[in-house]
Amino acid sequence: MTVISWIGLGHMGSPMSANLVEAGHTVRGFDLDERAMATARDGGVETFSFMAEALEGAEVVFTMLPKGEHSRAVYLGDQGVLALAPKDALLIDSSTIDVETALELHKAAAEKGFAFVDAPVSGGISGAAAGTLTFMIGGDKDTVARAEQVITPMAGRIVHTGGPGMGQSAKIVNNMMLFINLEACAEGSVLAERLGLDPRVFWDIASVSSGDSWALRTWYPVPDIVPSAAANNNFESTFSAVLAAKDVGLALSAGEQTGVDLPAAELAAQRFQRLIDEGYGDLDCSLIVKYAAPDGKVQGWNPDEV
Ligand code: NAD
Repeated sequence: MTVISWIGLGHMGSPMSANLVEAGHTVRGFDLDERAMATARDGGVETFSFMAEALEGAEVVFTMLPKGEHSRAVYLGDQGVLALAPKDALLIDSSTIDVETALELHKAAAEKGFAFVDAPVSGGISGAAAGTLTFMIGGDKDTVARAEQVITPMAGRIVHTGGPGMGQSAKIVNNMMLFINLEACAEGSVLAERLGLDPRVFWDIASVSSGDSWALRTWYPVPDIVPSAAANNNFESTFSAVLAAKDVGLALSAGEQTGVDLPAAELAAQRFQRLIDEGYGDLDCSLIVKYAAPDGKVQGWNPDEV
């Protein structure tokens, strides 16, 4: 049994930390949002009003936060994890953030004598709940081996991706491909429907044919086809448009830095930005399906019920 602090109990953090409780660990949680903490308590996490309290006695600290700026705010500064956590705690940032921030956190943690890894995940909230996430870990071999011990109850696969920041590099490229696939599902689902195909019949074909993808099997943007799709719940977020825009933006920045041309990622980024501009940034990223329909009308989407 390990004492684990968990900072960031949102869509991913709550189900992930619940799996650690299930595995017999004590999880001490903190989030700025009381509703997130209430959900985590349902999963057996003990929650605290201040991060300092949640960090007391921690042997491992996980962070699962939206963006690089949040990871910076949580780790650095007088009231940050590096100032408050027990010095022998292992620190694991599972947020998806830019490589530059990840490297900064590796450096700051090492300067204070902490073991730290970047360990972003893939698999969505369904994978978080099922404990089947893929973890991509960047850091030195011994620290990654330590991290693996505690990550196991949340993971289907754990990959030591490389040195510091390499977990984030792998995650950024993976998610760019995911969002391009999502745009393919958006366009394909609307075209199939306008051609008169039964959505179930078409999905059954595509899911065993060359149109298959994780996005198709998990987020297909048509109601009553895939249980985990946001289209079943008027596009209530499982992965928000804001976070999707952030991830594609990270890929586009990496493309600029490396001189790689990424026109499909640029299109996906424009789609997510359009959702944000329309005030739908907190809804699910798969709502980009409405841009494929000439009149913006798609099954499962009712803007009056948001
Ligand atoms: P989320 O917005 O649901 O959760 C993030 C939580 O962090 C929120 O509850 C927020 O209140 C909390 N938070 C922000 N600043 C904080 C602070 N200073 N102290 C404490 N709590 C703070 O986001 P999510 O969907 O759980 O995603 C988390 C990370 O995982 C993101 O980087 C995302 O890109 C990545 N991710 C998400 C999915 C997915 O399907 N949702 C899948 C893989 C990876």
